[in-house]
Amino acid sequence: LEPHYQFMLRLRLPAGVVTGEQYLEIDRLAHEYANGTLRLTTRQTFQYHHVAKRDLRPLLQDAYKVGVDARGACGDVNRNVMASAFPEKSAVHAEIHDWSIKLSEHLAWKSKAYEEIFLQQAPSGETDVEPIYGATYLPRKFKIAIAVPPENDVDVFANDIGLIAVVENDALVGYNVAIGGGMGSTHGEPATYPRLGSVIGFVGLDKTLETVETLVTIQRDYGDRENRKHARFKYTIDDNGIGFIHEQLDERAGIKLEPTRDYHFERNGDPIGWFQDDAGNWHVTLFIENGRIADFDENGLAHHGQYQGPANYKLMTALREIAKIHKGTIRLTGNHNVIISGIADADRADVEGVIDHYGLDDGKTKRNSALRHASMSCVAFPTCALAMAESERYLPELIGKLEDIMDKADIGDERIVIRMTGCPNGCARPFLGEIGFVGKAPGKYNLYLGAAFDGSRLNKLYRENIGEAEILAELTPLIQRWSAEREDGEHFGDFVVRTGVIAATVEGKDFHEN
Ligand code: SF4
Repeated sequence: LEPHYQFMLRLRLPAGVVTGEQYLEIDRLAHEYANGTLRLTTRQTFQYHHVAKRDLRPLLQDAYKVGVDARGACGDVNRNVMASAFPEKSAVHAEIHDWSIKLSEHLAWKSKAYEEIFLQQAPSGETDVEPIYGATYLPRKFKIAIAVPPENDVDVFANDIGLIAVVENDALVGYNVAIGGGMGSTHGEPATYPRLGSVIGFVGLDKTLETVETLVTIQRDYGDRENRKHARFKYTIDDNGIGFIHEQLDERAGIKLEPTRDYHFERNGDPIGWFQDDAGNWHVTLFIENGRIADFDENGLAHHGQYQGPANYKLMTALREIAKIHKGTIRLTGNHNVIISGIADADRADVEGVIDHYGLDDGKTKRNSALRHASMSCVAFPTCALAMAESERYLPELIGKLEDIMDKADIGDERIVIRMTGCPNGCARPFLGEIGFVGKAPGKYNLYLGAAFDGSRLNKLYRENIGEAEILAELTPLIQRWSAEREDGEHFGDFVVRTGVIAATVEGKDFHEN
């Protein structure tokens, strides 16, 4: 008898885009081979939980039939390439989507091991050659995202390489390049720290692929291969300096980046609700609390009570019904929400009918507050082996208590970016929360304050290892003060920095300094 091993399985989905047909198959696979729910990740893809070992192959083989795979969704290679999901300028977004696929394919490993092991294709008999990764691949995982200002919905600075689209006269002309972002750190080890990407210059489209590849090879050759906690690109950059990276780009590929072009971000969350793009098509962003797609019963429970949501909320059924009639695409956002995208004017009524029937439009149901819309959590318990505290299953409850505080302070309609994770690995990018919670032990969290609303500044530790009562006691007066004393349009993260509640984190290396 084989032990009942179970796995988490994550798909690769550049820019998080699927067709209705692909969505329906992804949904079916969740019921046939996983726990009957889907988890949207903070990097625009789907995760299956509780996949038995014997079901790994059939799941991956069926996914492959609709053009979806899991190559590079984990491991010390380039991960799922993210791209801004908000398609306001339709032509530019189509290009950005193409770029995410191009980068994802270019940096995919060349080995046929995936095909042989999981798809059971016959061995080619040829020796694998990895022109970019070499024999030993990368020292650690590697993350890339593309943002289209003014939206920073992908948290572009949290990536090893962040590409900030430069659009001139409505055309994409190239990217400002940010390098060395990454959230992961370890409690009690100040040599580890989150870092935001440093913008090092502009590259035109003709040199973008070469620049990205060369940066990957610099990390391949200079990244730390002895200490995994020091192996991300951010440490390679801080140890050697930005000047070294420029020298290497020039030496290896003759690349000289141009001066950074102007850019401006406004926010890092998702605008929820309906909007029309410049070509006249409709898109609707649906809020998916903590990324969990499930059907919640009359008690608000799903999967044997493991997950909680609104009572009688048939979210999974609703998305399936939408996928059956929707002719455009379904886009996952970097904030684990869903955009039903590219709805022709003539089709809007049909799609809207399903959305309204199942109560998915927060604009109409008023089910979720602006504060909840701006919240994000990682999976943590019960399926993540690294979790030290609850995240996905606790944040909704805590947000409810913070909503009461906001309402009493007369700011019930305001957004504060709130992020929670069960450990400092940082999957929900907690160090970019204006309020961040990172699990320390069951029921205990480190509380961080002061990140920027647009994702351009990290937060800093405010209180360590505290439970809910202390969290609420700490945050209540701060929220009240923000309501009473803030300047015009001042966000919470900026307010706590300006008023000296917390010192600004200027760069990753000073994250631990008070
Ligand atoms: Fe990621 Fe840590 Fe959350 Fe697990 S507990 S999902 S590793 S942040």
